[in-house]
Amino acid sequence: MSTKSVNTSQRTRIGWQGITLTLPPDWSLTGISTERRAGYIKIDSPGTMFVQIRWEKANNRPQPKSLHDWVKYGISQFQNRTRPAEMEPPDLGVILDRYLKEAEKRSHKQKEEFESKAKSETTEQDGERIARNFQWVGGGVGQGKIWFCRHCQRIVMAQVVGRSKDDIGAVASELFSTIRDHGEEGWQTWALYDLYAEVPEKFQLEQHRLMSGALRLEFRRGGMSLMIERWGLANVLLRNSSLEDWYAHMVDLPRKGVEKEETEHAGHTVVHFHWNINDPLARLRAIRDGFFSQTISTYGSAAVWHCPANNKIFGIRMHHPYGENIVPQVVERCRCH
Ligand SMILES: [Zn+2]
Ligand SMILES: [Zn+2]
Repeated sequence: MSTKSVNTSQRTRIGWQGITLTLPPDWSLTGISTERRAGYIKIDSPGTMFVQIRWEKANNRPQPKSLHDWVKYGISQFQNRTRPAEMEPPDLGVILDRYLKEAEKRSHKQKEEFESKAKSETTEQDGERIARNFQWVGGGVGQGKIWFCRHCQRIVMAQVVGRSKDDIGAVASELFSTIRDHGEEGWQTWALYDLYAEVPEKFQLEQHRLMSGALRLEFRRGGMSLMIERWGLANVLLRNSSLEDWYAHMVDLPRKGVEKEETEHAGHTVVHFHWNINDPLARLRAIRDGFFSQTISTYGSAAVWHCPANNKIFGIRMHHPYGENIVPQVVERCRCH
């Protein structure tokens, strides 16, 4: 089987910070930000079209002004009384107007005509979202949508931009019918290039490294860390060593006291590793990282497998307190080919 056909026959699936969407094959992620609260992603087509998505946490709760307000605010936060349903939806019209005015200004600077149309507000997803569709022409064409989600309380703006010859309507309809802005049942999808993984929502992305040879997403929850890694050119990496030896060396597993077991996933053998964090420096770091959350991670767990169909190696690693190992669940939800 050609390794190329595995990737190109499928739609492009992207998952980042709770946003998931599907686009035609061969589109690629070209811009990304780390934060969940406010950020963006940009995905380019092989031609002249691209998709831009921006999101921001809506923030129209009355902000505490006096010391008395602060105390009340603190108590309500602590009791988790500020539920999504209590939040007034933001005025999408104002935000959209501002955006289109700026786009118009930019077009005029480049001596281009600009015309835009915004549709009236609709409700979607059983009332979970309020949304407005819009389109514009001016130095290119764009079709977009802005919405507010009551569940994750984010304002999201997504648009497809292209030249006038591009069929942006077809891409926009696929984008808008597939796009979601939060995970399901507490799990969030992280999908990019040929990685598809799911991570519990409570784990926050701390760092990412996206190179064609190696992808790494690093998450944290209190004193716990979770790392998802994917390496390319597995046939070259494994030329002179076994998968186990290569991985142990690559991620610097302790030399002694590591327990091993094997499971199966997607037709591959998965090697699992478990160890106690005994190294004094690593222990000290675990205490420092977990001090405020009182989750001191004194155990390490990892899993690695080789996917020959994609010529890739996948690895999941975690530092966690006793009984909190979720590596097997993360492996189970990973799709490698
Ligand atoms: Zn949402
Ligand atoms: Zn596989």
